[in-house]
Amino acid sequence: MTNELKEIRVRFAPSPTGKLHLGNARAALFNFFFAKHIGGKFILRIEDTDLERSTLEFEDDIIESLTWLGLEWDEFYRQSARIETYAKYLGKLLNDGKAYRCFCTEEELEKERQGQIDGGSLQIYSGKCRNLSEEEIKKNLAEGKKSIIRFKSPSQKVRFVDLIRGEVEFDSSLIGDFSIAKDLVTPLYNFAVVIDDFEMKISHVIRGEDHISNTPKQILLQEALNFSQPKYAHLPIMLGPDRTKLSKRHGDTSVSDYIQQGYLPETLINFMALLGWNPGGEKEIYSMNELIKDFSLDKVQKGGAIFNIQRLDYLNGVYIRQKSLDELAELCRPYLTTTDKEQLKKAISLYQERLKKLSEITELTEFFFKDALEYDKGLLIWKDMTNGEVKEVLDKLDKILCDVEDKAWNKAKLEEILMPEAEKGNDRGRLLWPLRAALTGKKASAGPFEVAEVLGKEKTLDRIRQARAML
Ligand code: GLU
Repeated sequence: MTNELKEIRVRFAPSPTGKLHLGNARAALFNFFFAKHIGGKFILRIEDTDLERSTLEFEDDIIESLTWLGLEWDEFYRQSARIETYAKYLGKLLNDGKAYRCFCTEEELEKERQGQIDGGSLQIYSGKCRNLSEEEIKKNLAEGKKSIIRFKSPSQKVRFVDLIRGEVEFDSSLIGDFSIAKDLVTPLYNFAVVIDDFEMKISHVIRGEDHISNTPKQILLQEALNFSQPKYAHLPIMLGPDRTKLSKRHGDTSVSDYIQQGYLPETLINFMALLGWNPGGEKEIYSMNELIKDFSLDKVQKGGAIFNIQRLDYLNGVYIRQKSLDELAELCRPYLTTTDKEQLKKAISLYQERLKKLSEITELTEFFFKDALEYDKGLLIWKDMTNGEVKEVLDKLDKILCDVEDKAWNKAKLEEILMPEAEKGNDRGRLLWPLRAALTGKKASAGPFEVAEVLGKEKTLDRIRQARAML
């Protein structure tokens, strides 16, 4: 039975057993685009029934990451707060004889599995406890024997139409009597999801392909409980560059790692949207509003989507360049110690064009904000110049720059004054290198005139003198 609900309601249902993974974040995004495109509801449901592996810390990470991405949810649920609801439905399945208590011990089950592996057959529960009599069950319970609750899987074909992959068919005899709860108050994933999707009137389940084998189990449960069926769409898996499932081996995988490195939300949204959603055409820059406007499930590809970090960096560069200096300075603040916003803005302006992620700003600009630089005095030496020659150059620079008026202290003016000096010999590096090295203490940086402008006269002279003193 397929649900023809009028209202579009989708859910993102992360388990707080790890930080928000990019693959999951993309599922959240696609749900969000889909709902907002159509004027439906986007629901956040924390699936924390696995008490051993769920933590509040991970839940916070998930919530903060979603908030940072700008995915506002319309409703919020936490499964651990809904235990009574699950217990009610578990009781019903048990009463109706559609589920049963299984008293097999871990060892027995393991032995059974091993036998199946050795015999080359599928690993399916044998159904040993399927037909225990009332008395046997009572006796087992009275003896305090441990049990779990299994679903009595009917033997049938399960078919559904996946909105991305088309018709999908499973044979439930290959699934067997799967477990749905540890006990009445400890439901397991497949069961809790079915109850929630029904009670929350979910119209479309949009989730990762890794869940596709759960779908027939969920459909069987829906049928047993006489629930309507949501529509399903399974998103292609996110792959690393070597075409295996994106994992820690490939580097950072959680949204918060990327936040820390200084990627912008616009970047990650744009990037993840195009991992699996292929609108056709050349357009590669999409804002959230455009994604909501253009998104449709039929443009989601079936094949795996390959994560490409160069592309992520490229997009971040695009969005960084779109920021005003004020905005960028605010964004860079956490990566720097200075509190001087004006100087920060000037320093950042030298690098905005080539910045790929915000965290790079530390290495690129921290020299501006230090009182004294630490570097090896060898850095000041250009090619085969002697110490003495470099000292002379620094003295000369000191003298010339002392005479520049404060209000004329800018890149153009400094260039106008110093370039003729630099051009006097046959190698301008003899003047410009020691100057730049003295001002930055680095092998590579922005040019000396720009740097001097940002440093200001006093700091520039101070650094030239510090360099002179080292030689
Ligand atoms: N809680 C599941 C997970 O985090 C998702 C369940 C679903 O979307 O059905 O993988």
